[in-house]
Amino acid sequence: MLESLKITIRRQKKLILIFLLTIFIPSVTLSIFGIIALRNERFRLEKQFREKQSDLVNHIKSQVDGNITELENELGNLVQTPSFVNEEYKEIIRLAENQLEKNPLADQFFVVYNGNEPWFPPFLPEGSGYTPGPIRGFTVMEKEKSDKAENFEFVQNNYQEAISLLKDLLKVTEDENLRGQILNRIARNYMKLNDFEAAIAVYTGIIRNFPESRTSTGTLLPVTVRFQMVECYMRSGKKEEALKESLRAFEEVMRNYHNLSENQFSAYASLARETFSNIRDENPEISSSDTTLIKNFENLNILYQKKTTEWQIINDLKDECIPYINQELMQDRGYSGNALRYSKKIGPEDFLIISFLIPDQTKTRANGIAGIKLTNAFLQDSLLPDILGNSGFEGDKGFALSNMDGRIIAGDTALLSKSTNITSYFDNSFPPWRIDLTGEITRPLLLKEFYRSFYFWTILTMMFFLVFGIVIIGRTIAHEKEILKLKSDFVSSVSHEFKTPITSIKALTERLLEGNVKDPKRMREYYSEIFRDTENLSHLVGNFLDFSKMEEGKKQYNIEETDFKLWLEQTVPDFFSRVTLRKYNINTKIDETAVMVKIDRNAMKLVVNNLLDNAVKFSPENSEIKVVLEKHGEKLLLKIKDDGIGIPKNEQASIFEKFYRGKDASQSSTTGTGLGLTIVKQIVEAHNGEVGVESEPGKGSSFTVILPVTDTEKDPLPNLPPGGKESIHLFPLGGNKKGD
Ligand code: ADP
Repeated sequence: MLESLKITIRRQKKLILIFLLTIFIPSVTLSIFGIIALRNERFRLEKQFREKQSDLVNHIKSQVDGNITELENELGNLVQTPSFVNEEYKEIIRLAENQLEKNPLADQFFVVYNGNEPWFPPFLPEGSGYTPGPIRGFTVMEKEKSDKAENFEFVQNNYQEAISLLKDLLKVTEDENLRGQILNRIARNYMKLNDFEAAIAVYTGIIRNFPESRTSTGTLLPVTVRFQMVECYMRSGKKEEALKESLRAFEEVMRNYHNLSENQFSAYASLARETFSNIRDENPEISSSDTTLIKNFENLNILYQKKTTEWQIINDLKDECIPYINQELMQDRGYSGNALRYSKKIGPEDFLIISFLIPDQTKTRANGIAGIKLTNAFLQDSLLPDILGNSGFEGDKGFALSNMDGRIIAGDTALLSKSTNITSYFDNSFPPWRIDLTGEITRPLLLKEFYRSFYFWTILTMMFFLVFGIVIIGRTIAHEKEILKLKSDFVSSVSHEFKTPITSIKALTERLLEGNVKDPKRMREYYSEIFRDTENLSHLVGNFLDFSKMEEGKKQYNIEETDFKLWLEQTVPDFFSRVTLRKYNINTKIDETAVMVKIDRNAMKLVVNNLLDNAVKFSPENSEIKVVLEKHGEKLLLKIKDDGIGIPKNEQASIFEKFYRGKDASQSSTTGTGLGLTIVKQIVEAHNGEVGVESEPGKGSSFTVILPVTDTEKDPLPNLPPGGKESIHLFPLGGNKKGD
């Protein structure tokens, strides 16, 4: 086995060498270079990916910074406007509302004028004495009347007189604030007279007609009036009205929050909440009959809570940030238009503040500072996802923003436990946050790039050729090995085929030559035995010669018009009497209508003899061998059937190949060369016929030869030499093909 492989390889040395030199070595070399190139390509792609990531980080930084700078510029411009320089509170509130609050990045705005408390528009400035619009005092004449009325009210407790004096005063006073204040005093006197109805009527008038009027201390009159009305209702026993009025008071406070200072707002809001809660708790029947009251109260409370949070921020700014910013900006007393960015962690939040100096009129000194606390939520939850989304970043996976404590405030919270590719900080640590990016170049992306690569296709092509070459070489070697085996089997079987008759002839002639055989009958037996052996030998030699002629394409056919029926009736007995000694039950069935065919009689005899020889070889003695000749239309069917060992299905396709011998057959019959059926097939096909087999192991085989009936008009044989010579030369047809 191994030996034959070695021999085959030795024989195919040249082919293998050519394969190695022209396909294998170049393919492998190119593949190695290709793989190296692909590796480099991978590194290049990874580098590109990292660069993209770092571009993204820079993009995030510049976008965030761009947004901050934009707001900063707005503020920087605003603080230089005359309104800021001249401390025009009302105008500042308007500007802040119109210009700064529109920017979603602006959270809380503040202004601190030198020597004043910090001011958080739109609340009114604390302690600055500022009121929207000037508050005028009484003229001398009015003042006299007013003082008189005060005397009646507080010293003499003559409320009626006080009321009539105040009514007189009202007639001569034109200022809205003063008129509101006078009415307020009239109502107060009615209350002291326990005339609550009159008081309420006056209060209602104030709210309706003087919604902007203020007390002498700057408090909004309609707000204080509401609380007075609550008291009127309470004292006149109208609990339900009192409860409703306390809710209105709360509404009034909330509605006017920006017209109050932060302290006023907080004080009045608390008062309204307490008043409402007290009346509600003392008179549960009222609220249970009117549920909308409670609902409205709850809504107002929610609003109030929101405002409270704002105060918290304001207080934090006031206590924790502004002093530092003020100090930092005011350091050198002179004015400069540079911005200061300041961040400070307060509670869980990082306060991010941008601030400027406000110049005085000379623009050389600072009059105060103004700043804005930024909305972190806008940066984290809105701006960043937008930037990521626009840059084609999938979701927030692989991106994280963490604050100074290392807590992730935006992006992928799972990132904290992972090692990241890129860590970066915002310029000047503003915001004081860290950006982390992780992620590997994805496999599909990598593959996509690879598919585009020239090297990838080179390697693939090389691999294809390599595999193709290996398959071809492998098949050639396997085929050669098979042939080698067949040939060696052939040589041994041929030797055996020759040896048997020769040994027999030798022994018999020896006996005859010695003169020991005297009995003429015995002598005849010896001679006919010798004759049969030589007949067998000549059959064998005939087979070989025919086969080698066919192989070389030199086989000549001597075609003669033959009565096939007659011819067969002689050939079959001839075989049994002259060629074989074994006894069989010969059953010949010949269709009487069988007609003339054009055949090479010797060649056709070889066909019949070979088929009969196989039938005899592979069947037990005395079994039946059937020879049937039938005519089917234009075709003659010659069938030779036996009851022998049969042929396994998987061998049936190979038995017509040269040198092929069946596995069972070579065990049961020692004679045979594997050429018989090859010769049969070639001869039959040269006669434009076909040969086939039907067989079942253990049950016998049936070989069928189909020959075309001669048409006297039309010759079935192709390529007849010119002149109609009956001897033709045919190349073997399908000699190596598998028989079917
Ligand atoms: P050989 O008979 O010399 O082996 P052939 O070419 O005549 O070679 O036949 C090829 C093979 O076909 C045989 O080895 C045998 O396996 C199978 N075969 C042919 N004829 C028969 C048959 N009548 N019965 C069983 N096997 C047969």
